[in-house]
Amino acid sequence: MADAPAFDIEKIPHPAPVPGATRDQAIADPGFGTVFTDHMVSIDYDEGKGWHSATLGPRQPIALDPAASVLHYAQEIFEGMKAYRLEDGSMALFRPEQNARRFNRSAARLAMPSLPEEMFLASVKAAVEADRDWFPAVNGGALYIRPFMFANEHFLGVRPAKKYKFLVILSPVGNYFKSGVPAVSIWVSSDYTRAAPGGTGDAKCGGNYAASLVPQAEAIAKGHDQVVFLDAVERKWIEELGGMNLFFVFDDGSIITPPLGGTILPGITRDSLLTLAREEGLTVREEKYSIDQWRDDAGSGRLVETMACGTAAVVTPVGRVASRDGEFTIGSGGPGQLTTKLREKLVGIQRGTVEDTHGWVTRI
Ligand code: PMP
Repeated sequence: MADAPAFDIEKIPHPAPVPGATRDQAIADPGFGTVFTDHMVSIDYDEGKGWHSATLGPRQPIALDPAASVLHYAQEIFEGMKAYRLEDGSMALFRPEQNARRFNRSAARLAMPSLPEEMFLASVKAAVEADRDWFPAVNGGALYIRPFMFANEHFLGVRPAKKYKFLVILSPVGNYFKSGVPAVSIWVSSDYTRAAPGGTGDAKCGGNYAASLVPQAEAIAKGHDQVVFLDAVERKWIEELGGMNLFFVFDDGSIITPPLGGTILPGITRDSLLTLAREEGLTVREEKYSIDQWRDDAGSGRLVETMACGTAAVVTPVGRVASRDGEFTIGSGGPGQLTTKLREKLVGIQRGTVEDTHGWVTRI
């Protein structure tokens, strides 16, 4: 590991790792989020005692008391990140300290204890190290990393719990999209919103995703890939997709992305694209953009591309947008020039084929 952990993670022997042949098959065709590796990191928290009992051991079911508070009041947060393989075969993380920071911002919003950044990073590195043999043998593959924390005090009362568990599990994943980068089709939700001012929209807590399942299912039922949410107050401003941020690209080379105002998840891909786009000399504005304007600009040709971005699918073009009021197509309906360029640049940095001038890549 590059950095020595600031605390000890006890290594528990693994009596029954998944046999090689099964593992080999899993890493040859991993899919997305369905296969899991052998190990997990676990750290416990008790009020008064702090974080303790850090272990790296076999991935296994966890026993929960039926009154564990997460099961009732949903004190749960998580992160989503990936370990990549560099050209020279070594493994690397992309801006992992940003995930550690966002994790603690989520923790603060959900009245959960913060986890020292170095503990978060050492846990992620230890898990990846232990299961590096699970790295998928497919083009564009990665080890998806899921750090998460939940309340496990057994107590039925609405107040912050006094006991928590932090875990890190890993899943070998293939390319999010099996062939190439298809443009996605998006459904504008009129009946549902994702986040209200003062709510938990900018925290990565499980409840936000539970609330997005019905609108996402509605999008799928109507033949689309993803749902886009509008703001909860005016039902007019574009916020984000269920799991990705949005960028709008105009014919004069300028770009708009919705501002972070507490109702949008501050994506690390979003932040990276803001930097890369500015370096390309583009004018990038964090500014509100309305659904009506989106439709009009797509119609007039002023809007030439729309990109959706996030860790899972990196940068993905939005081709078609539909709502109760009708449908419109963006540009040619396929990947635009800037989407392709920024995607290649970001993927190149993550995989070590493009120089990392920002210090974004952490080798393990
Ligand atoms: N918005 C939401 C709601 C998300 O769940 C995600 C995925 N974490 C993103 C945006 C993109 O964030 P990131 O680029 O950090 O993956």
